[in-house]
Formats: sequence, structure tokens, C-alpha cells
Amino acid sequence: MDTPAFGVCPHCRSRISPSRVLRITRRTPYACPSCAGRAVITPQIGMIVLIGYVAVLGMLLFALDALRAPRLAVFSAAASGVRAMPSVFARFGRFEALPRRDPHAPS
Ligand SMILES: [Zn+2]
Repeated sequence: MDTPAFGVCPHCRSRISPSRVLRITRRTPYACPSCAGRAVITPQIGMIVLIGYVAVLGMLLFALDALRAPRLAVFSAAASGVRAMPSVFARFGRFEALPRRDPHAPS
């Protein structure tokens, strides 16, 4: 088995789609638009990306606040930061392949 790369589908190596990352929940894994393969973000990597991202965003907001930026600017920076999260996960997340759904498997 080869090592999964960052930001690509572990099945076909096409790029992870951020809009589909948005739809990932605990019950529904990522589904690749090119090959329909399913994948999940490795929990450790997901945690590292999340903590790193929140730290960077927090520092940015702190800097804006320290520079006495208008409240609206701080707020919109925070909002766009949150909105960029799926893209950050799509780019830096490491996706692990899930076996394809077996239609004959008992549910
Ligand atoms: Zn794929």
C-alpha cells in the first residue's frame, strides 16, 4: 500500500474538493467526485491542521485587534477565516482510503 498524499484522493489522486469536504460528517465520509471512492481525514492530521489553523487565525485576529482595527474588520477577517476552513482541510488534510461500499454487506 502506498502512502496517501496531502490534499488528494487516496484512490485516484485527483484533488480534494472543498465543497465536498464541507459535507463530511462522522457518519458520511468524503466521496471523491472523480472516482466515487470514499475517504476520511486521518484524525491526528485533522487535529494538527485544526489546531495550527486556529492558532494562525487567532494570532491574526489578535494582531488586528492590537492595531486597533475596526471591529467590523476583525469580524470579517474571522468570518472569512472560518469560511476558508474546508479549503484548508482539502489542501492540507491527509485522506485515508475507505473500502468501497459493499452492496451485499449486512447493514
Ligand atoms: Zn478519487
